[in-house]
Amino acid sequence: MDKLVSLAKRRGFVFQSSEIYGGLGSVWDYGPLGVELKRNVKDRWWRSLVHQRDDVEGLDAAILMHPRVWEASGHVAGFTDPLVDCRTCKSRFRADKLTDARCPQKPSKVPGEHAACDLTEPRQFNLMFKTFMGAMEESASVVYLRPETAQGIYVNYLNVLTSSRQKIPFGIAQIGKAFRNEITPGNFIFRTREFEQMEMQFFVRPGEDMEWFERWREIRLGWHHDLGLAPARLRWHEHGPGELAHYAKAAYDIEYEFPFGWQEIEGIHNRTDFDLSRHQEYSGKKLEYFEQASGERFLPFVVETSAGADRVTLTVLVDAYREEMVDDEMRVVLGFHPRVAPIKAGVLPLTKKDGLPEIATDLYHAIKRHYPAFYDDGGAIGRRYRRQDEVGTPWCFTVDHETLDGRTVTVRHRDSMQQERIGLDHVTTWLAEQLRD
Ligand code: ATP
Repeated sequence: MDKLVSLAKRRGFVFQSSEIYGGLGSVWDYGPLGVELKRNVKDRWWRSLVHQRDDVEGLDAAILMHPRVWEASGHVAGFTDPLVDCRTCKSRFRADKLTDARCPQKPSKVPGEHAACDLTEPRQFNLMFKTFMGAMEESASVVYLRPETAQGIYVNYLNVLTSSRQKIPFGIAQIGKAFRNEITPGNFIFRTREFEQMEMQFFVRPGEDMEWFERWREIRLGWHHDLGLAPARLRWHEHGPGELAHYAKAAYDIEYEFPFGWQEIEGIHNRTDFDLSRHQEYSGKKLEYFEQASGERFLPFVVETSAGADRVTLTVLVDAYREEMVDDEMRVVLGFHPRVAPIKAGVLPLTKKDGLPEIATDLYHAIKRHYPAFYDDGGAIGRRYRRQDEVGTPWCFTVDHETLDGRTVTVRHRDSMQQERIGLDHVTTWLAEQLRD
């Protein structure tokens, strides 16, 4: 992880927020390459759910919502983590994740195991960020920064249903920021206080919920495979009776094997009619669905798929990172799937003379009309390849003296380091071919 965090900073993937002021705890900024990578992850999610399906609609709800929403959802009363403090070292830990934590005293052990540890009893800590709306800082004007995007979907369920003329079963998908005042954030962008979620709520007839639940599990795992993640590092974790949220009928997490252990990257939940029935009760607005074919009215059940855009981006980075020895020299490669790679093509003139830069510049501009590309004419060609390997650029196109004679360029493949020649005028169609889904 340390190597990855340092590479991410050095090459412009992720920076610490407000770094020149010493940083802000567990808040991160995405640099030029990071923003492309995360955007590719989000675009692929959006395309697979909203654009490629007829039964899922998109939504972009506001971050600030009516405070009653969070009473209805149960967040005001119950969105808490149990917190313990150590009176000796003054550290704070999540009581339910003590075994994952380390006491800062040496030798470092699980908090509570060191002779000097003096832990308080657990107390509940609400994770929602509060602020005030309007000029008065009083309890009547409290609003929350949403801790999840899902509630924006529930409260818009009727609006989307009627305006889109969808019929049940159908889903609503949304990508947006969420905020949680996490007690023990960490592991880089794995657990942060401001993050983005990619959530989809699928509304179904009660009784058909488990069938759809199973279908969505399969679809979502397939999506992670299509991102290029190593299947052996993905697994299911089923929530046992002690773990299952009180409203959920069934829940599975997709977990990834990070350097710090197996951890959740996405949750798939059968939330029954809990959320809609609570919003119906708290808002006083009927949220039932009338099914024309059967003449029945019912509150739909909901199957939710909930992934973190930042967490999936971290997964893609971790999965892609590798070091290998080539000719006694260490090569660092981010072996991204080309579809998520931030830069698709490097364009490199072999030398800075003989008209090669002019041809390479034209090629670079031609590629840039379709795909992010990078032009590099500085230093030995081998070093330039390495620089592109390190940011995961799948292909480099080198303009050399043969280009002058036969209008061909060298394509150098990142993973195999093999080279082949293709026509200069065919580079963009060649790229389109490689990047086709
Ligand atoms: P955890 O148990 O790790 O706190 P959770 O079960 O509370 O997570 P959910 O509420 O199910 O998480 O959120 C769905 C997804 O949102 C998670 O799978 C994760 O990808 C992402 N997510 C949740 N909390 C954070 C966070 N603090 N930072 C980054 N991503 C997060």
